[in-house]
Amino acid sequence: MSVIEEVIAKVKEKDKDQPEFIQAVTEVMTTLEPTVEKHPEFVKAKIYERIVEPDRVVIFRVPWEDDKGEIHVNRGFRVQFNNAIGPYKGGLRFHPSVNLGIIKFLGFEQIFKNSLTGLPMGGGKGGSDFEPKGKSDREVMRFCYAFMRELFRHIGPDTDVPAGDIGVGGREIGYMYGYYKKIKNEHTGVLTGKGLEYGGSLIRPEATGYGLVYFTAEMLATKGMDFNGKVVAVSGSGNVAQYAIEKVNHMGGKVIFASDSSGTVLDEEGIKGEKWEFLMWLKNEKRGRIREYAEKYNLPYYEGKSVWDVIRDEGIKVDIALPCATQNEIHKDHAEALAKNGCVAVAEGANMPSTLDAIKVYKENGILFGPAKAANAGGVAVSGLEMVQNSMRLSWTREEVDRKLLEIMKNIHRTALEAAKAYGVEGDLLAGANIAGFLKVARAMLAYGVV
Ligand code: NDP
Repeated sequence: MSVIEEVIAKVKEKDKDQPEFIQAVTEVMTTLEPTVEKHPEFVKAKIYERIVEPDRVVIFRVPWEDDKGEIHVNRGFRVQFNNAIGPYKGGLRFHPSVNLGIIKFLGFEQIFKNSLTGLPMGGGKGGSDFEPKGKSDREVMRFCYAFMRELFRHIGPDTDVPAGDIGVGGREIGYMYGYYKKIKNEHTGVLTGKGLEYGGSLIRPEATGYGLVYFTAEMLATKGMDFNGKVVAVSGSGNVAQYAIEKVNHMGGKVIFASDSSGTVLDEEGIKGEKWEFLMWLKNEKRGRIREYAEKYNLPYYEGKSVWDVIRDEGIKVDIALPCATQNEIHKDHAEALAKNGCVAVAEGANMPSTLDAIKVYKENGILFGPAKAANAGGVAVSGLEMVQNSMRLSWTREEVDRKLLEIMKNIHRTALEAAKAYGVEGDLLAGANIAGFLKVARAMLAYGVV
């Protein structure tokens, strides 16, 4: 058994109730195999064993009161996975499915993603099994206060800097930051994704979606292609999906799908112009369902189906797939349908949206594949830029931040390709991203000795 196989086996045994974490470890570790031979020093220092174990995990009670005065109890998490190259950094997710395994998978991925951005950020992630859907603003506020009442003692601008993720957007960051500021009496860059008036960065809301499309454009360019005239499938309709759609439109592509956890709309004319504005209003102001988009424009709506189910069942052809909803949304049969219908590229806006079997299908069919930790790193990269602006106490213009984002996405693409080539897996962006992200963290861990 190789060192890598031993590490995976141990995680499978120790964390058997954490399937998403096991999946993420398997994906990353398998692609690190070529580093073992070249770096006996990592093997000797047990870096592979150490990197799958979080620095610490905090689990806490979050009691809060609804509008009727009834008390509810949720569970809060913060996994501080690895701070070898900078303060822990990673989002907070509020969704009923949140559990330790999901937060650990996200925190683990974040280590390599943050390293790839080239900025000094370690990996962490957190959240709660709280469901913000259907709650009043006041209820969300009371929950966020209760969550921060415990979280504040574990974070800090040089320690751990959380941000948003599923279910945590500008509203939630505002409430959490306001409460942190109140109890610490400090106005400091402890969260990113803040409003512009109180320390946020321009382009942060757009960053993950824009970055994803910039990255995909780099992938396409290696085959002499671009977005112009391409038909694109985007899943989800939240923060990442919304700005991915906008940027695809800027680049001359046409997005024909959007979805939420209830169903999928097919808009063959493309989600653009006034229709994109309506989507933004529907999801961010009204907090409504994607079904209402289908109703307004009299379009086909598929209740209970994901974008990938619809592509598979209806035989719809797309050139490019950008999954932007959640983990494990594209299974093997979905990937086979994409391949059969001539899809040329899949780039992941969401974290781990493709199962390991689906990734195999992309490879077998020569589909260009942009793995999440490279393709969606634009969000955390601009969070890093928000931290820089907070430390310097100044704000960059929209153009400046956008230019830096584009540069970072190009760099990530180049770095991943170079690492893949150097380690004998040329053209494999998944392996290249994992290897490049890993090397920097591993070298830092080595420098610290045994801590
Ligand atoms: P949002 O909460 O803004 O949007 C999430 C979207 O995905 C919604 O349309 C939601 O539908 C849908 N969705 C969520 N869970 C499920 C599910 N279990 N099944 C089907 N659909 C689901 O989140 P974000 O856009 O911020 O995040 C989307 C993905 O991108 C996540 O994987 C996240 O980790 C990743 N990501 C986000 C970054 C960011 O900067 N925000 C950075 C990097 C990655 P509904 O409204 O019905 O729940």
